[in-house]
Amino acid sequence: MCDICRRNFMRAAGAVVAGTSGLLSSSLVARAQQSSGAIPSRGEFVIANATVMTMDVTLGDITGGAVHVRNGEIVAVGRNVAGGGEQINAEGMIVMPGLIETHWHMWNTLYRSFAGDKADEGYFPTVARFGQQMAPADIFQGTRLAAAEAINSGTTTVHSWCHNVRSQAHAEADIRALAEVGVRARHSCGWPQGMPDTQMTDQAVIEALARDWKAWSNEGLITLGMAWRGQFRAGPIKPEIYQPEFDNARKLGLPITVHVGSSRKAVGQIEPLAKGKLLGKDVQLIHTLAATADELDMIKESGAAVSVSPGSELRIGYGYPQTSEMIAKGIPVGVSVDTSALTGSSNLFGVLKLLRDVENAKAGSEFHMSARRALELGTIDGARSMGIDDKVGSLVPGKRADLIAISTNALNMAVMTDPGHLALECTGPENVDTVVVDGRILKRGGKLTALDVPKVIAEARTALAGVRERTKWR
Ligand SMILES: [Zn+2]
Repeated sequence: MCDICRRNFMRAAGAVVAGTSGLLSSSLVARAQQSSGAIPSRGEFVIANATVMTMDVTLGDITGGAVHVRNGEIVAVGRNVAGGGEQINAEGMIVMPGLIETHWHMWNTLYRSFAGDKADEGYFPTVARFGQQMAPADIFQGTRLAAAEAINSGTTTVHSWCHNVRSQAHAEADIRALAEVGVRARHSCGWPQGMPDTQMTDQAVIEALARDWKAWSNEGLITLGMAWRGQFRAGPIKPEIYQPEFDNARKLGLPITVHVGSSRKAVGQIEPLAKGKLLGKDVQLIHTLAATADELDMIKESGAAVSVSPGSELRIGYGYPQTSEMIAKGIPVGVSVDTSALTGSSNLFGVLKLLRDVENAKAGSEFHMSARRALELGTIDGARSMGIDDKVGSLVPGKRADLIAISTNALNMAVMTDPGHLALECTGPENVDTVVVDGRILKRGGKLTALDVPKVIAEARTALAGVRERTKWR
């Protein structure tokens, strides 16, 4: 870029942001607020004067950097970037890729922190009992609440692990909620809560979705996968149940996701998958806390990815994730929320911080995992684990514009020191100033631009009251 271009750009940027002291211009905020209730269009803009953490090994961090976005695509990243459209001053902010979440039962966000302190009020009985009373509209409310929380806290990609598909309408409700919020997502279509493990999941639902997926994909922002029960749940599942489901996903060309080795006690569950040819690049394993070194080799050789969720794994007593062990083997690892019925808040920055701290505790070292490495797991590595790193996960020209700006102008984030440590160790949803998904600005100046937040909360509250009434739950 030439110096004249840069001067013109800086003049234009200065004209817009003069006097805003690092905040977005009030006119831009006002325009964003006017668009409340509808997803904003993809425009052209430059986010400038930021500390840009590209999460790309070549581009690295750029102090005083800018990102130019046009029609949903990142067109330039650097210190001297000339670009048209709106000029957004991000002085004092950390700009980085949006976080990539890789396994989340978003539908049961309706039961946030509902898992109680006694065995019959724990996560599984609570979710199974409520889940069986849910109408499609209740699924919609749970997933929309989760997706709104994702955007608000800087997560731009989610994996909606929908294991309460009681009908075609239930699956569609989950997908509609994702589309309404505008988040990038995979909907993995599963089985209904309460269905016996001796019964096959109704394949007609996922087949119908696959056949008509273009109509559901929200312009390619949402993809389809299969949430598979696998070979083990409370007990072993028979091959005549698990095999046809797995084979059908492969026939439909869909990625497969499965909980396996979910606690440190669930040993010996990887080898049967490998022997049964039930691993591969199209398979994502969830938790996988009990794999032996040999089994980790089997995962690596197959090309399968693993999603770890230290927030729920620690809360429910599953044990410590094997994150470092998997990274050492070269297994693609992503990080997940799992379920807010257990974890409460679904702020993925908090989960990443917990993950880093657990790995350092296991290793007995302050220096075992860097803050930067944990952030990679939440961005580019998460994208690799979901097979979408050609589109998102780092700020590189040509990728889709999924990015966030974190303001350090707050008591819990000031002052600007190391951006990696700050982003990992301090970021709460209130610090996430701006969120962009596929070039659409969904949060700006700390406010969601396309959602009526009081309405999202009120409707979720009403849905929960209805389910509690039908469930006869006090
Ligand atoms: Zn799960």
